[in-house]
Amino acid sequence: MSTRFQEKSFHCPVCARDFRALIVESVSHQGQDSDFYPHYIGEDPLPYFLVQCPDCQYCAYPDDFTSSEFSQRPITQAMIRSILGQPLARKLPRHAQRYYLAAKLYEAQKRNPYYIGNLYLRGSWVCRQEEDRKAEIELQQLAVKFLRQSVEMSTVVNPDNLPVVTYLVGELYRRLEDKALAREWFGSVEELVADTEQQWVLELAKKQAELNEYFLN
Ligand SMILES: [Zn+2]
Repeated sequence: MSTRFQEKSFHCPVCARDFRALIVESVSHQGQDSDFYPHYIGEDPLPYFLVQCPDCQYCAYPDDFTSSEFSQRPITQAMIRSILGQPLARKLPRHAQRYYLAAKLYEAQKRNPYYIGNLYLRGSWVCRQEEDRKAEIELQQLAVKFLRQSVEMSTVVNPDNLPVVTYLVGELYRRLEDKALAREWFGSVEELVADTEQQWVLELAKKQAELNEYFLN
């Protein structure tokens, strides 16, 4: 098993252009980094989770091209241009820039911070792969801001994921070398772990909390 793609037709909700794009049908991975970046087998799917309009550059998940969220809070071409013109956007590796744009548009639409944080997180994985540590840090800071919000505002989509997202916030702080916040967030995983199926999160939180105390990143 390795990454499988599928070609699909899209209609851009911003500029009305019709186009076709590859989307990810399935992935497989073996292992993952401690912030859940999967070690994909086969072709890297990260550049293909998002779809981008070749004309106006609108960029989002495939479902967003038809979702009702869009008409409630519409995106304009001027917004897209303004985000892409930001100094940070211009510095990012190409595929990380797409995650950044999609996240900023989600922010404009006031979407769930959990999804916003996940977009920035995926963007940070692209930067790691490109060995651009500076860009990775920028996106990790944004990812942790929104993932933290999603825990604090209880907008984590599946409540079972709460210990996992809490751990992830701690791990992102650790990677950003904020020892005190990492310690605090790793420390709150235990009280959230409800059953034995989630023991692995607790084990992982303990392991990374130890790294946070005794090792340099
Ligand atoms: Zn378009």
